[in-house]
Amino acid sequence: MVKGKYNRPVIGFASFLLLCLIVIQFFYVKNAYELKQDQFSYEVTQSLLSTLDFLQKTQGDSSIILNPVVQTEPHLFVVKIHYVSSPYLLESLIRLEFKKNALDQDFVLNIYDCFSDSVVYSKDISLINTDIEANAPEFSWDREQGHYFSVYFPNQVSESIFSLEFWLLSTIALIIEVLFFTYLVWQLSQQRRISKLKTEFINNMTHEFKTPLSTIAISVNALKRPNITDQPETLKRYAEIIESENFRLQEQVTRILRAATIEKEGAALKNEAIDVHTILNDALNTFKMNIETKGGVLRTNFHAVNSVIFADKSHITNVFHNLIDNAIKYSPKELNISISTENVGNKIHITVKDSGLGIASAHQDQVFEKFYRVPTGNRHDVKGFGIGLNYVHLIVQKQGGSIKLNSKLGKGSAFTVSFKFVS
Ligand code: ADP
Repeated sequence: MVKGKYNRPVIGFASFLLLCLIVIQFFYVKNAYELKQDQFSYEVTQSLLSTLDFLQKTQGDSSIILNPVVQTEPHLFVVKIHYVSSPYLLESLIRLEFKKNALDQDFVLNIYDCFSDSVVYSKDISLINTDIEANAPEFSWDREQGHYFSVYFPNQVSESIFSLEFWLLSTIALIIEVLFFTYLVWQLSQQRRISKLKTEFINNMTHEFKTPLSTIAISVNALKRPNITDQPETLKRYAEIIESENFRLQEQVTRILRAATIEKEGAALKNEAIDVHTILNDALNTFKMNIETKGGVLRTNFHAVNSVIFADKSHITNVFHNLIDNAIKYSPKELNISISTENVGNKIHITVKDSGLGIASAHQDQVFEKFYRVPTGNRHDVKGFGIGLNYVHLIVQKQGGSIKLNSKLGKGSAFTVSFKFVS
């Protein structure tokens, strides 16, 4: 299998080859079309020359006309002649000559009389027994040139294109190939991205689990000391360490399992009437201590009059826990959090705002993807699995709401969740 690091040059080379193929195909089709047009012009000119020769002989005209056939446009041929005794004779002679040269396209025949300065004969002639409705293009008949007739092929361009069947098919095949190739490259890059994110997630998880596990191991070793029962205070301290690290581990496992199960099709969500303000107040009680110990400021502006929504209480609680937890986590310097609610139309908007790190616009859509964490450069201090916002997004969507992020790098972030309220 091609290793990841070789993907880029391989894709680049394949794209280059495909591009060469497209250019070659373009020139081949162009040449084939021009060749077809040249061949057509040659055959029509030869047929018209023979027609003229025959007509002159039939009419007893032995004079020589210089360059009698002129192709004035790709589809229009003009033939000089001294006179035409019978238009029907001319028409049948043309038909005959065209048949000899296997020309079976419909055409319009016009005969111009310079004495009366008018078109004396005009007919749409179908060689393939279909009705044609075409007018020869605007043509300025030149009286000085004497008598002449014109033959116009209304379907010439499309006939030439369709006669290039092979080239047409190969061009369609090439277009399909290019589309497939583009789709495959896109798939490949998506898979590479997901696999990179998964590796980062596993590294993160291992790292996150290692610390509490080794703290527990150290505490257990300490508890195994023979004289530990003589030191009840130390024993209690180690037991508390084990308890808190165990709690941390349980929390992390729950978060991962929760994110995994909610993705499953048809994950059951309750639909109960819940008051968003009550949930927010409960969540704030949980985080208040944490914010205060860090010297942070917490503001609440609950302006919404209608704050009851239909949703799953436990998942909605998790949603706000995640958003507030992130607001704290990603505000390393100044901890300034505000939580506000307002009614807009038939909805309640809940905004969790911080003045922390902020998120550059390039990452704002991706933060809701599973495992995605904004690359932090040299900072490794903020822990996480990159599954919190994905979970939030999924829950909000499943509950018929929406989430919007408004953030500026270095200035802070505001996540606004909206739900229809119960009136
Ligand atoms: P994590 O476990 O990494 O916090 P999340 O899914 O909750 O995972 O968030 C995804 C990423 O979005 C985070 O790694 C972080 O870079 C960015 N992020 C989330 N919330 C905030 C915030 N309030 N301020 C700045 N960045 C944030």
